[in-house]
Amino acid sequence: MTGGVASRNTLLSLGATPRMIDHARSVRLLQPIRRGIYASAEADLDQRRAIRLGGKVACLSALRRHRVWAGLDTRLHVCLRRCAHDLRIDEAASVGLSALSRRSDTNFVADPGAPRLHWQRSEPRDVAESSYQRDWLMPPLVSLRQAVLCQNEEHAIASIDSALRTGFITKSQVDRLFTQLPARLQCLRAEIDPTADSGNETVVRVRLRRAGFVVETQFPVPGTSRFDLLIDGVVTLDIDSRRWHRDDAQISWDFDKALCSFGAGLPSLRILPRHIYESWPQTSAVIRRTVSEAKELRDLRRAQSR
Ligand SMILES: [Zn+2]
Repeated sequence: MTGGVASRNTLLSLGATPRMIDHARSVRLLQPIRRGIYASAEADLDQRRAIRLGGKVACLSALRRHRVWAGLDTRLHVCLRRCAHDLRIDEAASVGLSALSRRSDTNFVADPGAPRLHWQRSEPRDVAESSYQRDWLMPPLVSLRQAVLCQNEEHAIASIDSALRTGFITKSQVDRLFTQLPARLQCLRAEIDPTADSGNETVVRVRLRRAGFVVETQFPVPGTSRFDLLIDGVVTLDIDSRRWHRDDAQISWDFDKALCSFGAGLPSLRILPRHIYESWPQTSAVIRRTVSEAKELRDLRRAQSR
């Protein structure tokens, strides 16, 4: 109910007695991790690090544990009260995701190293009183606002897309979010599209539209599943985010999908996260050339058929 970490006050409000808490401590069901805050065996490393540091899991770390897109920064993001003292930064920096455990879609634990600290003046007003996770986790809207301010624009848009798609926040909460964002970020609102399947898809969509392409999302082609993007009406593009586990059935499906697209007269491209984040100039040049040649061919055929 409390997500593995709770303060003494929360436990008492849930019906525990001081005797029960003492007993749970003596048989090591509860471990004190900071004054008045206890962890059960369920608590993970992010929670323990944030509490030991004197704060709460926040920003990208809060999003990631709800499977909301949180960009490429895998540090622990912690929110601290302005008056926080006795910060155990070195202790929190020394641990993190073990080098032996591979990062996966479901493994959200942050890397070791100095956490990214967010400071706040007072308790946020958005805290849901019913949330028993408030002792260690920042609420959704606060975390999303921190994440928008903490990332570049394309990842900020991707986090909002993903938060909407996964139901992490509602549409009306997005309205509230933008009332709390600075003027320079108001323009991002027009770029939000929660139909995006993944954060990587959002990033590519944003880059292509900003480069002047007309981009449709979730484009249907007969005989197969929807393509992530259709560029200038002539080229389909899928962004393969399944970085960690691909099986033969999926690979076979992808081959069929490309054939269906070409069969519908639309050249098709498929890219991986590394084509977005490690070699975008080359990737973008390939997309530009493929789109340009497909448009030339389309125009030529139109001229001939007249
Ligand atoms: Zn942050």
